[in-house]
Amino acid sequence: MNRRSFMRSAMLFPIAFNIMDNNSLKDLDASTENSERMPVLFVGHGSPMYAIEENEFVHSWRKLGESIPRPKAILCISAHWETNGTFVTAMTKPPTIHDFGGFPRQLFEVQYPAPGSPELAYLTKNTLKKTPVELDQKWGLDHGAWSVIRNIYPMADIPVIEMSLDYNQSPQFHYDLAKELSSLRNKGVLIIGSGNIVHNLRMVAWDKVDEPEHGFDWAIYANDKIKKHILSNNHKELINYMLLGREVQMAVPTPEHYLPLLYTLALKGENEQISFFNDKAVMGSLTMTSVKIG
Ligand code: ZN
Repeated sequence: MNRRSFMRSAMLFPIAFNIMDNNSLKDLDASTENSERMPVLFVGHGSPMYAIEENEFVHSWRKLGESIPRPKAILCISAHWETNGTFVTAMTKPPTIHDFGGFPRQLFEVQYPAPGSPELAYLTKNTLKKTPVELDQKWGLDHGAWSVIRNIYPMADIPVIEMSLDYNQSPQFHYDLAKELSSLRNKGVLIIGSGNIVHNLRMVAWDKVDEPEHGFDWAIYANDKIKKHILSNNHKELINYMLLGREVQMAVPTPEHYLPLLYTLALKGENEQISFFNDKAVMGSLTMTSVKIG
């Protein structure tokens, strides 16, 4: 952090703290106490271009917005925000972050002006008893969040906050942390993990980028194996995914796109239904397979 951004956040924090006084927390609780328990999602986000393209993945994101109860707010755990420690965005107007390079200007012009929710940020911090959580004033919405959420809720009228992935921590830590978020589902909060189950950018089949579906055998094998474990509630095996064989190791060469799946699975209640959507491979080494629980 440079001096100027430090000064800026030091100036913003007192303002944010005023917003998060006890009254506004009570307001959030009061307005959500009779809420229906929200489902929880893992969404495969794929290429940033899907934010502006028309394809079947985007179509099912749009249908999703129409088929689930309308949330009071959204908490997104995106593969694209890794930090030293755990942070939640706490600003009132999160900026749209274009955290990629080499894409057309049209993609850089996309704005998703959903409001933030300092109240939900503070509630999330308070809900996580075992882990210190810091309120962030500098991030915003990265493309893992906005490329998907702008299609689910195009009006940008539902507050969105992000929670970061602490890159120092183990898969078991992330799974245990996510379990503590369960009560938020009863307060009208839609929790979305955004990543990709199979995500190996080094092995992308660049000649198949424009094909609607293409997966290497190992990618499809790994995806199927992980799906079977999801359906059988074998969370221990999924937490220890590095022991699931060579294909899964190729599918998950780095953890950040896989960990949001563990957040979603950790939030599954005992008898809740699991359904898959966008269950396809693209570019050889990515799968868009997404999970809805509840
Ligand atoms: Zn990504």
